Formats: sequence, C-alpha cells, structure tokens
Amino acid sequence: MAQRSPTTDSANAANAARGSGAQTPATAAGAKSAVQKALEKLGLKRDIDLALHLPLRYEDETRITRLRDAREGDHIQIEARVTACEVSYRPRRQLVVTVDDGSDTCTLRFFNFYPSQQKALGVGNHIRARGEVKGGFLGWTMLHPSFRTAGGDLPTALTPIYPTVAGLPQPYLRKAVLAGLARAELSDTFAPGDLSRLNPHALWTLRQALQFLHHPTPDVSLDTLQDHTHPAWQRLKAEELLAQQLSQLQSRRARALLRAPVLAERTQADSLHAKLLAVLPFGLTGAQQRVGMEIAADMARPLPMHRLLQGDVGAGKTVVAALAACICMDAGWQCALMAPTEILAEQHFRKLLSWLEPLGITTAWLTGTQKAKERRSMLALIQSGEARLVVGTHAVIQEKVKFHRLALAIIDEQHRFGVAQRLALRSKAPSGAVTEPGEDGAAVPHGLHDPRHQVEPHLLMMTATPIPRTLAMSYYADLDVSTLDELPPGRTPIVTKVINESRRDEVVERIRSQIAQGRQIYWVCPLIEESEALDLTNATQTHADLAAALKGTVRADGQPVLIGLLHSRMATEDKKTVMGAFIAGHVSVLVSTTVIEVGVDVPNASLMVIEHAERFGLSQLHQLRGRVGRGAAASACVLLYSTGDGPRLGESARERLKAMAQTNDGFEIARRDLEIRGPGEFLGARQSGDAMLRFADLATDNALLEWARQEAPMLLDRHPHLAERHVQRWLGGKAEYLKA
Ligand code: ADP
Ligand code: MG
Repeated sequence: MAQRSPTTDSANAANAARGSGAQTPATAAGAKSAVQKALEKLGLKRDIDLALHLPLRYEDETRITRLRDAREGDHIQIEARVTACEVSYRPRRQLVVTVDDGSDTCTLRFFNFYPSQQKALGVGNHIRARGEVKGGFLGWTMLHPSFRTAGGDLPTALTPIYPTVAGLPQPYLRKAVLAGLARAELSDTFAPGDLSRLNPHALWTLRQALQFLHHPTPDVSLDTLQDHTHPAWQRLKAEELLAQQLSQLQSRRARALLRAPVLAERTQADSLHAKLLAVLPFGLTGAQQRVGMEIAADMARPLPMHRLLQGDVGAGKTVVAALAACICMDAGWQCALMAPTEILAEQHFRKLLSWLEPLGITTAWLTGTQKAKERRSMLALIQSGEARLVVGTHAVIQEKVKFHRLALAIIDEQHRFGVAQRLALRSKAPSGAVTEPGEDGAAVPHGLHDPRHQVEPHLLMMTATPIPRTLAMSYYADLDVSTLDELPPGRTPIVTKVINESRRDEVVERIRSQIAQGRQIYWVCPLIEESEALDLTNATQTHADLAAALKGTVRADGQPVLIGLLHSRMATEDKKTVMGAFIAGHVSVLVSTTVIEVGVDVPNASLMVIEHAERFGLSQLHQLRGRVGRGAAASACVLLYSTGDGPRLGESARERLKAMAQTNDGFEIARRDLEIRGPGEFLGARQSGDAMLRFADLATDNALLEWARQEAPMLLDRHPHLAERHVQRWLGGKAEYLKA
C-alpha cells in the first residue's frame, strides 16, 4: 500500500496529493470553527485521532426491503409513496402517515414532529423510511422512523454512526473523520502476522481495519461489528492494548534510570526493625513476612521502589508499613506516611507513636487543621531531620514542607490520591543529598536535565481495594504489586444481612444485646443533612432517635450507654474527642457519616449498621464492613436498605447488596465491582491520569491483553522507533502524563 508523507499534520500537502475530492467539513468560516471546536471537545485534534474515532454502530441504508418481504421486528428501509398524512389526537397528538410501496402499506407514527417534516411527508411524496416494523397482522407500523426524500443512489457501505457531542451533527463529523482517515499515517507498527499467533483470522493491517470499520461492506454481519469480535476490531483492540502496555513499560524503564537511596536492611538484633518486631503484641503472618521481604528487597536497590501493597481490610498493612519505615530510618533516612483523612492519619500517628516512641524515634505530625505554632515546630523538626518519621494528611506534600533526607514515602489508601499528589511526594526528593560522583556525569550535555542525577524517594502505596488481575495487568502494569492474601489469625468471618428499612426496630434490638455484651457498634449514614434532592436520613436525627431508643440500656460494666456523633462538618477537635471516646470504649454506638470509611481500627466493634446501603458503592460498603470483624468476637454487618417510592431496588443496587451478602473476600468484591461499574469508575482518582481503554474490554479481551504484554517489551527492544510511533499514534499528548 502506498505510503503517505509522515508529516501528517500538514494537511495541505496531503490534500494536494489526493487531488480531487478533497472535502472540508464545512465551507463557511464560522461554521468551520464551530465544528473544529466540537471536534476538539471530542479530543479529535490530529488526523490519526480522527481516524481512530470509530463508529458506535451502523445503519444499513444499502438495501430497500419490500413490505411484503418484511418480518415482525425487522429493521428495514422501505421506499414508498405517501397516501395519507394527518394529525390525530387519540390517544395523544401524533402525525399518522400511510405509505404504499406497491407490495403493501405501512403506517408511520410520529409523536414529535415539526411542520417541515409534516410537509416532507405530504401525500404523493416519495420517501425512504428506515425503522423497525411491527404488527404485520393488523398492518405494518413504524414508530418514529427516520426518513428522507427518495431518489439518488443507495449507499454501498453501511452508514457509520459516530459518538459525537452537541453541535456536531453526524454528517459533519463523518466528513471530518473520513478526511482524517484519508490523510493519517497508518503504516503498521506490528505485522498482522504477529496477531495470527493469537487468532488466525486476525490478519488485518491497521489501514485495512480502519478502512473497513469506517466503511464496512453490507455483506458483513452487523453482529460481529456490534460485539467487536470482527477481525478489524481485533486489530484495533490489539493496537490499543499494545499502546497501553508500551507506555507503561516506557515509564517503568524511565524510572529505572532514576536513583534512590539504598536502604539496606540491618539484620542485627539491635536494629529498629528487630526491636519493633520484639515489642509487637503479635507475630507476623506468613503473608506479612513475605510482603515485608519484597519491600525490603526493593528498598535495598538504588532504584526508586514503585510498589503497591494490596491487602483486604484488616489484613494488617500498617505494621508492614511500619517495618519498612524502620529499615529506612535505621539506614539514617526519613520516612513519610500520608493518609487521605485526618482521622486515619491520626490513628496511624498514634499507633506508630506507641510502637516507635519507646524505641527512641521522634515522629512529626502534619495536618491542614493544626495550629500555626505547632505546625512551625513540626516543620522545623522535619527540616532538621530530627523527626525521622512524618505522619499526616495531604499537608505532608505541601510546598512548605522541607525534608532533611526523605527516602521512603508511604501512601495509605492510595486510590484516594490522584496522580498529582503522588508526583508531589516524589518531588520531595533529597536534592543532591546522594549523588554518585563521577558516574556518567560527563556524558550529559550542558544544561540538559539528566534523570540519572535526580534522586527520588522509594514509594510504597497501600490499598484495601484490591485490583482485579486484568486491571493489574493493564492500568497498573507499571507497578510492582505485593499482596497480603492472609488475614491475621483468630478472626471470625463477618456475617452480612441485607434488611429492609422497615425492620429497623429489630436492628435496634440487636444493638441493645451487643451493648449488653460489652461490644461497640458503628451506625453509618450517607449524608449529614436533609437535602432536597435526596431524602436521606440525617445523621443527627438518627443519633437522636438511637439515643431515645437505647435510653435506659445498661452496659456490661454497669455504665450508662453513650452514643457518639461524627460527621464531616464538625470541628476537628470535636471529631477527635468523639473518636477518642469510641476508641477508649466510653462510647458504645458511633453514629457517623462516611468519615470513618477508611482504615479506622477499633477491634472491640462488632456490629456495623449501614443505613441507605443502596446508595453506597460496592467497594465503599466493603471498606465500611471492614471496620468490624477486627477482634476475635463474631461480627455482623447490617445493610439497611430503602426502596424509596418504588416497589423495589434498582438493578445495580441489588447486585451490590447481593455481592456483599455473598462474600467477604475483597478480591471477589473488587471483581464484581469492576463488572458492575466498568474500569472507568473503578479506577477513580487514578483515572484522571490514565488514558482509558476505548475499544478493548478487559472482561472479554484477556487473550489480547496477554498478547500485548508479551509483545510490548519485544517491540520496544527490537524496534524502538516503531514502539515510539505506536505510542504517539495512540496516546499522543497524553503519554507524558502517564509517567506519573
Ligand atoms: P489494614 O490492612 O486494613 O490497614 P490494619 O493494619 O489496620 O489493617 O490491621 C488490622 C488489625 O490487625 C490491627 O489491629 C492490627 O494491629 C492487627 N494485626 C496486624 N497484623 C497482625 C497479626 N499478624 N496478628 C494479629 N493481629 C494483627
Ligand atoms: Mg489500613
């Protein structure tokens, strides 16, 4: 196939080369700029972007079907003469048109119509109408068919329908896409044969695949186009997955050029690590030991660690983090631990303080709400290096915070943080603190930034939202993943009950009996105030109701029952007081909004009630449930749901609650969550920094994903220029952002 000029952006040259037939989407300058704007909104800037903008579906306008040959439910196009056209008012206002194609008649009904359409459908006019035919026995009808004046040749290819935005009608978009397709540089970056290993039918070049998908011939089965199993789709999906793998591999390799402090583990009995192990009230699980070694091995290398520690709620990630911090501090460096909420950060702070203070470690605490004076003294401790551990919220990454020698950054509940925040932590590198003198220094041209001289802290991210395997292989391919697949011993599985809101009294009864046994209870509400839009139960109201209902209940220790209230609008001091009282066991029931969602650890709590559970996402529900079942006592989670005005719950809410009742396994929950929501929402914050897959579907394209994973390193090693072209083609300007 003839190659076009690689400088595809100079459309003029390409247009000239194509000679006649050059079409621009619109002629009027004003209209053109509006089209241009709409195109940009769709992210269609380059020719290749247009070429890769694929149809959502197709309409078959290539054939005329005679009404006599139609079958019930067929989507057909007819050509017929209008024999009657009138507005009828029963059962409601509608335009009723009768047409006759010589073989039979058909009634076309329009509930919304303009005078211009009424005119076009005047008696005697010849039209082409397209739609679904129904009701053969009583005579055919089409509801809201599309139609136009008959005449002109029938198209020879299916008509593509593209995803578009307001202000960009299909015909304009179609012209722009086809022009982009004609101009784009489409030479293959991998041979069709490379795919044949996988699928012998997949012998399509990129150009063939794109030509076909934009103008499929009418003989093709619409099904294979619609369900993306057609070889042309296979090629496109393989291309897309390969681009994703390549960009992740590139960022992995770019990171391998960076330097990080070598934090070798000291194994002596007087090491911090050994001392911490000695004071812990429990022994590590096998999984904790294994994961700890994986992390230690990373930190002992001069390259920045980029590791995700995943483990179900309650798996014991904190102690793993603390042990990693010990290795870092023992090597003479600083460690920072960042958590997404103040409650969680504070809990970490307390726990780490209780473990490490006796070992002589000074820990600093940073949060957005602390007093200026306290903050100043913390900043000084951090800058001087006296504080060897820094724990806090987002405040840790603010510009004012200067570390003396930061070598390890730990991010808890990483899915709550965005790419920008992770980058900010990385930039807290100890500037010039460790350079390896002489190493390659001379090879760097003056004034150029050499990544090899940049020293980065090691990065350990933790999450209780496990990443399903397919996502780990695709979106998270640039991360090393450690998995805590074992819970500490002695936990009893949480029993989950899904209960209609109308049985609230039974739940209160249950609470009473838990209190009598000396246990503590969480009661979670979705919002703190009545909102007009969503009639949610007010946490304050629930708090008052529960207090009234539990009045007179006496605890196992004879004390009166206290019920706490925690919500995000409370002052920090008040939150701390309430949380502290709950941790200390003075408060029996904690009514709260989702501020307690992540990480909170009160082992004596054995019952979690979630009100309006139908409004929560699956991973959020699992996180909340994970607040109980942390001690030896049997724990339960009650999901109270309300169907609102309707008779039953919506489909996806039902799926979520069912999944919760059926399994406690975080991996299974994550898998179902991915199924229910799709990767876009599942990935949350990370999504903003990632190019989402548009064509490939991780649920069905596993084999292609495996192929791309194997292909990417080979292409990058053997044909780096092809690899680069491939990434540029698919990810264009987005590639840089992916390197975070
Ligand atoms: P998560 O992984 O959800 O962050 P945590 O680190 O908060 O879990 O640990 C949950 C609870 O389990 C804590 O009370 C912690 O002290 C305890 N824990 C951690 N590891 C062990 C272990 N090996 N044996 C017993 N208890 C443990
Ligand atoms: Mg945790």
